[in-house]
Amino acid sequence: FVSKLPKTEVSIFSRMSALAQEHEAINLSQGFPNYPTSDKLIALVDHYMRKGCNQYAPMPGILPLREVLAEKMNILYQVDVDVEKEITITSGGTQAIFTAIATLIRPGDEVIVFEPAYDSYRPSVELFGGKVVPVTLKSPQFAIDWKEVGKLISPCTKLIIVNNPTNPSTKIWKKADFEALEKLVWDTPITILSDEVYEHIVYDNQPHWSLLQFPALWARSFVVASFGKLVHTTGWKLGYVAAPAYLTAEFRKVHQFNVFSANTPMQFAIADYIQDKDSYLGLRAFFQEKRDLLVEGLKASRFQSLPCEGTYFLLMDYTPISDLPELAYATQLTTQFKVATVPVSAFYASPCDQSLLRICFAKDKDTLNRALDLLIKI
Ligand code: PMP
Ligand code: GLN
Repeated sequence: FVSKLPKTEVSIFSRMSALAQEHEAINLSQGFPNYPTSDKLIALVDHYMRKGCNQYAPMPGILPLREVLAEKMNILYQVDVDVEKEITITSGGTQAIFTAIATLIRPGDEVIVFEPAYDSYRPSVELFGGKVVPVTLKSPQFAIDWKEVGKLISPCTKLIIVNNPTNPSTKIWKKADFEALEKLVWDTPITILSDEVYEHIVYDNQPHWSLLQFPALWARSFVVASFGKLVHTTGWKLGYVAAPAYLTAEFRKVHQFNVFSANTPMQFAIADYIQDKDSYLGLRAFFQEKRDLLVEGLKASRFQSLPCEGTYFLLMDYTPISDLPELAYATQLTTQFKVATVPVSAFYASPCDQSLLRICFAKDKDTLNRALDLLIKI
């Protein structure tokens, strides 16, 4: 048997979560909230299940959800997205990303990926015979040198993957980044995949620049989002993708044979729930409080936190504490000191140890305080 993904291992998130469980460590590794989602949302799911919304949803997703999303995109990003032809509800952001890649990539195609990068991009590209061309960004700035990116573009470049706000660097893209991207691709057939699952988790009153706000880019892009982040329900595995009609039509050809459609009662419940804009506009303040608690608390420790612009992750530098490589130190921190994190090296394809750990702060205050107590003693 010849593996199609010989280098791919069980994901670092599964491995660190399992290690946390085994050693009864506080799990700040895999990104998921440990507090309950809203009672109102759960009551809505119950309502729609009892009402009989338990069969297949329409393949592109239920219309009321696509309508409320089109309205949200219009209000926030001043863009008119066609509910019939340009929005598809998916079984999570990961499935949207995978399906977009499956739709586009043929053997020999090149895909530019900014690293450190979310773990699903590379294997998805490689499964279809594509080649990842990494742009390696380094701590602490993770700054993009657009001239260098320009040099990586070739006649084989099919896709550029953008993740903004970025997991795990926590960086947000500035307007100038999009303008630079626009200049690079305007006379090429390159498609963009913009992973914006953390669009509402941006701090210090900074704007989230969506790719939807750049018409020349949007005309050639898939924009992906996740309800897991929007309504604190990563286990519901629901998300969506907005793309111009010609790309959506191709995406749906793959989507209908991949999952066909996503969970019906939860789509109805979310459609009602996010009518109230505070359900997602409140995420900034909600997570900023947690970020600030963690950053303040870590000042009493020997860890150094890096500036966190967005997402619900914080990067911690442990240089003053240990010279172990990241995976070894993350393992030691979990097994001996009972706090599980993710080594940032796991987000790079080539070895890149910078003494950095990623810590997820989508946790209740008690959990964060207990983790801080442990980290301060190290
Ligand atoms: N993209 C990024 C950058 C993520 O961090 C995640 C998961 N947290 C996803 C996509 C996937 O979202 P989902 O859980 O909806 O599949
Ligand atoms: N996106 C989550 C993270 O970055 C994990 C998702 C997963 O476990 N596949 O931690």
